[in-house]
Amino acid sequence: MSSATRTKHDLIARIAAINIAVSLTVVTLKYVAYAVSGSVALFSDALESIVNVMTALAAYGAIRWSSKPPDSDHPFGHYKAEFIAAMFEGAMIAIAALLILYKAYSGLVHGVVFEQPGLGLAISVLSTVINGGWAWALIRWGTTHRSPALVADGQHLFTDVITSVGVVAGLAIAVATGWYILDPLLAGAVALHILYMGYRIATDSMSRLMDQAASPEIEGRIRGVIEANGHGALEAHDIRTRQAGRALFIEFHLVVPGSMSVDEAHDICDRIEHSIERSIEGSEVVIHVEPDHKAKPEASGAVPL
Ligand code: ZN
Ligand code: ZN
Repeated sequence: MSSATRTKHDLIARIAAINIAVSLTVVTLKYVAYAVSGSVALFSDALESIVNVMTALAAYGAIRWSSKPPDSDHPFGHYKAEFIAAMFEGAMIAIAALLILYKAYSGLVHGVVFEQPGLGLAISVLSTVINGGWAWALIRWGTTHRSPALVADGQHLFTDVITSVGVVAGLAIAVATGWYILDPLLAGAVALHILYMGYRIATDSMSRLMDQAASPEIEGRIRGVIEANGHGALEAHDIRTRQAGRALFIEFHLVVPGSMSVDEAHDICDRIEHSIERSIEGSEVVIHVEPDHKAKPEASGAVPL
């Protein structure tokens, strides 16, 4: 590892540690803000942050789990561990949203009783300032060190800050005007926003869990590599791809002259397999060899060679 890489590695590890400390502090402050005020809106804001912390931990565990090499129990690797983390995230989000909706409903029906809303608002503002400052720092570091992951983390945090600002502003208006019904209404809005996020995460990971094909762009590149390296064979057809996390499994039929020796056909397969695996990160290729009478018309998507 070069010294520049090492410094970047250390920096990322340090940022990850600070990240955990900051999010735990923010969650604690937000929960205290809810506890002293009795506000349903502050409760919803605290729950949203708890979900963020738990899903960050789940994502970290899933990344370590999915990078385990294949073994005899799981010969295709452990890449799908990432989907389990996504499902956990979806479940956490659903539970949080239901808890908030329940509280908001009883707030609407029975009315809201504020205890120390001023103190709650002050603590909430403090936690939002910490969160906003940290989001700004993440985006700044991510930009200087060219780390899109850090920038994305910072931008995600900013959307939480915007939610918090909305909740604090709404609650301040509710307290000032005595229009307390704003409090459970705000909480309901936060719950719906959380549910929508959960819906997007769940549908996205479901479709990827069902062996989603590679994008048309990647499929085009696969066909290009087969064309460029398939000399000696006659055509390739029935190209199928399926994604599993960071892995991409590719298989297809390769038609060769029926009289070709196994040695020769195997050489062509090895050449194509290695070229695809080199040009497409995370790909694993398996080829099924067929004699010429198995050829399919080009209209069926076959690649003539
Ligand atoms: Zn075939
Ligand atoms: Zn072989």
